[in-house]
Amino acid sequence: MTNTFVRVLTVVFVCLHVLAVMGSAADGAVNVVTSTPELASIVRYVGGSKVSVYSIARPDQDYHLVEPRPSDVSRIARADLVVRVGLDLDLWLDALLNAAANPKVRRGSAGYVDASRGIDRMEVPKGKVTGASGDIHIYGNPHYYYDPLNAKIIARNIYEGLTRVLEGDKEYFQKNYNNFVDEIDRHMKAWQQKLAPHKGKPVVTYHKSASYFIRRFGLRYFDQLEPNPGIPPSPSHISQLIRRMKEENVKALVVESIYPKRFPDLVAREVGIKYQVVPYSVGSMGTKTYFDLIETWVDKFVNALD
Ligand SMILES: [Zn+2]
Repeated sequence: MTNTFVRVLTVVFVCLHVLAVMGSAADGAVNVVTSTPELASIVRYVGGSKVSVYSIARPDQDYHLVEPRPSDVSRIARADLVVRVGLDLDLWLDALLNAAANPKVRRGSAGYVDASRGIDRMEVPKGKVTGASGDIHIYGNPHYYYDPLNAKIIARNIYEGLTRVLEGDKEYFQKNYNNFVDEIDRHMKAWQQKLAPHKGKPVVTYHKSASYFIRRFGLRYFDQLEPNPGIPPSPSHISQLIRRMKEENVKALVVESIYPKRFPDLVAREVGIKYQVVPYSVGSMGTKTYFDLIETWVDKFVNALD
């Protein structure tokens, strides 16, 4: 080989290397795909400038009923880390993981995070679930992320996942994780104070999504407009609910933003109350972060209970 040819080759290799480095820097050091926007928000907090994050479920999309697109497969094929809610909320993610066949994020590998690890699950069905009734929540209630103290466990799982795939940045992720925990604790005091006057009061929601939130803040779940999770309201269930709400003087109806307003309107009119709408997702009703989401939930619950 001539010297000139070697020099040209060297230049080409250096250029390719520079392009590769620039490419990864522009994309963010770690490509993270989450199943929901809440997880994406927490990944953004803990991962900071080292991550680029994409959520497959869009805000205000019923997480139980997400239909992934072909582009989601290529997102997962390029991912370094996948973070899911788990239980039965995002079962649709498994088909995506299979189709993408990316060994880095396969179940059990370093880049796979099930955010529900370590969560104290509520409403785990006793005995065999046949699914004959069409119920969902078959592994327990999967809406644990509406409890801000569970968000600390989620953040911990994310922190550990990020550290596995980017060991060199452990300290950076740890600092962000610690800040997240501190910020939750700081907010928690204010949130507890706002809801403290309403301890033990009964609440009705559309779907059974508020169990963890209600338990955390010492409220009481009265019932839902859906007779069972995932089963649409029926006229008989609604008329019984109206009667029971009147008899037991239940004033608080809180509706998650994704659900139709026909039945909430009817119940509110018949019972003689006003209902409140809460954001289903980070990104619903103008919320931008996980903290916005919970702050809005607290304020809307206070309005419903006042
Ligand atoms: Zn659900």
